[in-house]
Amino acid sequence: MYCNYCGKVIQDDANLCAYCGRRVGAVAARKHLVRSRRDRKVAGVCAGLAEYLDLDVTLVRVLTVVLSIIWAPLLIAYVVMWIVVPEEPLRLADQVSIQVPEHS
Ligand SMILES: [Zn+2]
Repeated sequence: MYCNYCGKVIQDDANLCAYCGRRVGAVAARKHLVRSRRDRKVAGVCAGLAEYLDLDVTLVRVLTVVLSIIWAPLLIAYVVMWIVVPEEPLRLADQVSIQVPEHS
């Protein structure tokens, strides 16, 4: 198949383009908004949002803290998301940790 972004030929079962690094193919499946288990500071809301919106997690955290100081209802929104948004399933976190290459 071809990469939609750079047009180069890539493997049919590839999730990432080897040339430009963009997500292709199967990963386009619908993502679910979940609270992250592996990359959390408080409740995993910011990490989950960053993952869902494909943004940098630090940017989301800084914006959340700064905007909460300026506009307090955002803090309530955070608590509501803490309650409403489900935690990332355990097996999903396990898969991610398996993908990390170990050099021995
Ligand atoms: Zn590409």
